[in-house]
Amino acid sequence: MAKPLVAFYWCASCGGCEESVVDLAEDILKVVDAVEFRLFPVAMDFKYSDVEALPDKGLAVSFINGAIRTEEQKRLAELLRKKSQLVVAYGACAHLGGIPGLANVTNRKEIFETAYKNTPSTANPKGIYPQTATETKYGKLTLPEIFDTVHTLDQTIDVDYYLPGCAPPPDLVMKAILAILEGNLPAKGSVLTSDKALCETCERNKSKPDKLAIKDIKRISHVIADPEKCFLAEGIICLGPATRGGCGERCINANMPCRGCFGPTREVKDMGARFLSGLASIIDVDDEAEVEKIAQSVIDPIGLFYMYSLPSSIINRKQGV
Ligand code: SF4
Ligand code: SF4
Repeated sequence: MAKPLVAFYWCASCGGCEESVVDLAEDILKVVDAVEFRLFPVAMDFKYSDVEALPDKGLAVSFINGAIRTEEQKRLAELLRKKSQLVVAYGACAHLGGIPGLANVTNRKEIFETAYKNTPSTANPKGIYPQTATETKYGKLTLPEIFDTVHTLDQTIDVDYYLPGCAPPPDLVMKAILAILEGNLPAKGSVLTSDKALCETCERNKSKPDKLAIKDIKRISHVIADPEKCFLAEGIICLGPATRGGCGERCINANMPCRGCFGPTREVKDMGARFLSGLASIIDVDDEAEVEKIAQSVIDPIGLFYMYSLPSSIINRKQGV
């Protein structure tokens, strides 16, 4: 019997999601046994034309990681949508915009000026920036256009399922692959993990006092956190109350607070705003100057509260840039 055809593709991605496939360890042999790859740029030499040659819906499933920030990524996402029965947004960047989505605090022009001109190690006296087309004596060279705004995968194409995480943990990846192969999937649009907030399964929840109240905010890099105590109760920002669980508390177990890579639970629209409103309610100072001091102690509020989710938030980019 012919094996189901599968594509694995990366868009604006760090490569960590590709690594998570290697993290399947011996289980990868079961996957390789059960499916046949048709696109997997990090590991195999297929061409885009191999996908174009397939009939529509010829791929059983495409796992697409990374955010969408270039014209090439958009084109490939659209092609894979057309050629796939199922599309899975794989990892936080495809699901929510992820770390590349923090580029939405600026725009292409400012990013180019920083990367190609203003960094101390760059010498670019003529102010030459990447062009989408350049004539050379060897012919025309082209680069894909970079967009001003980074998008999630589902802002670009229709997505069937979401595998959350940065990167998705191997047990969830394996469960998702088995569910797809066995046709045992939940409703379209589901995030393939728990729908409970991380705090509900976190061991440290037991140490939380009945009424949380903090008088200052500490940076995790400036303290040695007590491995038994709830970070938030200690004044260390932990996004566990606003984040979907199911990650296996990998960060918490390494004594690092949650940064929200699994995204919000179903009923939360904007996880940064949700966390911020919860945080405001536990700040236990009355004096306005003290409140201001606490607010100022959060050095990079967007980078902290929207570390993985800015493109998917209600105000998905800085306005006016
Ligand atoms: S989700 Fe994490 S591991 Fe995957 S591409 Fe984005 S930053 Fe990299
Ligand atoms: S806030 Fe963080 S440390 Fe505290 S219970 Fe929730 S996930 Fe655990």
